[in-house]
Amino acid sequence: VTTDVTEMLEEVADRFSFQLEQRMIAIEIDVEKHVDEIMLDRDRIDQVLDNLVSNAIKYTPEGGHIRIHAGRRESSVLEISVQDNGIGIPRKDLSRIFERFYRVDKARSRNMGGTGLGLSIAREIVKAHGGAIQLESELGQGTRVKFTLPYQQEEAAV
Ligand code: ATP
Ligand code: MG
Repeated sequence: VTTDVTEMLEEVADRFSFQLEQRMIAIEIDVEKHVDEIMLDRDRIDQVLDNLVSNAIKYTPEGGHIRIHAGRRESSVLEISVQDNGIGIPRKDLSRIFERFYRVDKARSRNMGGTGLGLSIAREIVKAHGGAIQLESELGQGTRVKFTLPYQQEEAAV
């Protein structure tokens, strides 16, 4: 079974429509023309996307903007990124952000809910699909998380 990438991303946005509206955060989905359907474990990739979008919402002030982009890197790799213009992550925390239970500055995340597991689980899922995940962030500017998924993968990997 293959997944339509645009449809998958629109459905993520739909799952968060209430929170997005409540926080007055705009979401934009941008899928490059040559992005084809892809084989993936839909439940697990939804888990990755849900965590990235929920992080973007949690750490972006009212009136902010989230952009989800999908494109092809080389001919055989799909790249999806979730970008926000929120509070960002201090440079000193960046190297630890994918560790289990790691959360930046307890004071700012205390009221946000969550356990600090989301990104570590996301990384495991992406790895199991044969891809990689990377996070870039600038304090006070925003955060972008991008991950890749190969179009062709070993059956056993998923
Ligand atoms: P959980 O995902 O388990 O509900 P969580 O969101 O706190 O909890 P992660 O998703 O692993 O955990 O994120 C780890 C930490 O990285 C967060 O607590 C937050 O400090 C920081 N972080 C993650 N995404 C963003 C983002 N888009 N902007 C700013 N900080 C972020
Ligand atoms: Mg999270």
